[in-house]
Amino acid sequence: MLLDIDRFKQINDTRGHATGDILLQQVAERLAATLRATDTIARLGGDEFTVLVENATTIDEISTIADKIKNAFATPFETESGEVFTTTSVGITIFPFDDHDRDELLKNADVAMYHAKQERNNWQLYRADMNVNTEDRLGMEVELRRALERNEFQLYFQPQIAVKTGKFIGMEALLRWDSKALGRVSPAEFIPIAEDSGLIVPIGEWILRAAAEQCKAWERAGLSPFTVSVNISAPQFRRSNLLQVVSTVLTQCHLDARWLGLEITESSIMKHAEQTIQTLIDLRELGVAIAIDDFGTGYSSLSYLKRFPVNKIKVDQSFVRDISSDPNDAAIVSAVVAMSKQLGIKTIAEGVETAEQLAFLSRLECDEYQGYYFSKPIPAAEVAPLILSHQLKTTSA
Ligand code: C2E
Ligand code: MG
Ligand code: MG
Repeated sequence: MLLDIDRFKQINDTRGHATGDILLQQVAERLAATLRATDTIARLGGDEFTVLVENATTIDEISTIADKIKNAFATPFETESGEVFTTTSVGITIFPFDDHDRDELLKNADVAMYHAKQERNNWQLYRADMNVNTEDRLGMEVELRRALERNEFQLYFQPQIAVKTGKFIGMEALLRWDSKALGRVSPAEFIPIAEDSGLIVPIGEWILRAAAEQCKAWERAGLSPFTVSVNISAPQFRRSNLLQVVSTVLTQCHLDARWLGLEITESSIMKHAEQTIQTLIDLRELGVAIAIDDFGTGYSSLSYLKRFPVNKIKVDQSFVRDISSDPNDAAIVSAVVAMSKQLGIKTIAEGVETAEQLAFLSRLECDEYQGYYFSKPIPAAEVAPLILSHQLKTTSA
């Protein structure tokens, strides 16, 4: 069995390494108290423990032991910095049932643990078909590490339009990855891996710089300036140097801060709301605009919303999709727009695909929209022609 302590890194980061050390010792003690003297317990490194159970013969026995291990984490751990709550994810492989090769044992347990980790606080028995996904994911991480130096990333841009006037307001920058080994991979697949592995930090910096340079290039080319909004991932947002990174990029690109927007998801803003407020205030003081992305999918405390210095709320596309047929979705969007107006915050709807949806949003007095109805995300080179032809249309209309 391979055990990994859930959220250990986070505990280490927030509570300090001394607490992390004590936690590891206590986990070892609890495991020793839970298992039999004939079982072997070892710490492989980091927050990973291995347990070798030699006298279990049935799946029932094995699952009982796994449940006991899980339950050993049910009560909080006492550390010098107070109680720590955590859980464990356990991967289990059976020798020689799963594999005759002893070297494969740990690898199989690791694969099963990785699957257990997806839900946390649970255990999983190894299955041969688990390998496929894990190898995909590991392979993707390996490729992702090389993607920056190999120049495999590119930014696409999707226009944002004012509902009332039809005027062009800005662009959202969206990352695209053309991997030499894997082909085009969707951000929905690789962004979570980049976040888990920490790679999102250097990649995110590249995105900010590329977006700012592109925005400046458009300004130089004589397109009337507009905002370019960049998505900021939770790990990027939590790092203390985001302000510094943003201001350095702006200076180096000679870009006025008001042309840069940041999109931060509701869940990453709300997770550490108190610490978040200061970061948001600092960014606003710098002059960049801030939008809360995927609004409605996380949980928002309305009292925080009042205190957050955000410019815009982005209504999640899941509410927009059926806005004209589902009265609940319509009611939610209508309430979000009304509340934002009261708070002096603009609203933008994402994922607008039909004229019907747009008409509905217009009735609700949503300020802006974005979606396939106007344009899919497009490469930078296609932006100028699109804007120019759109301006011709709106001025002649
Ligand atoms: P998001 O920031 O909420 O981006 C909106 C997603 O909706 C984009 O998917 C966009 O292509 C898609 N979309 C736009 N209009 C429509 C529409 O009318 N209908 C439908 N069905 N979809 C529409 P994409 O580009 O695949 O990105 C997915 C997510 O990946 C983004 O969600 C964002 O969370 C993340 N992501 C993308 N680029 C970046 C990036 O540069 N940095 C970070 N940190 N995350 C990114
Ligand atoms: Mg976004
Ligand atoms: Mg979104």
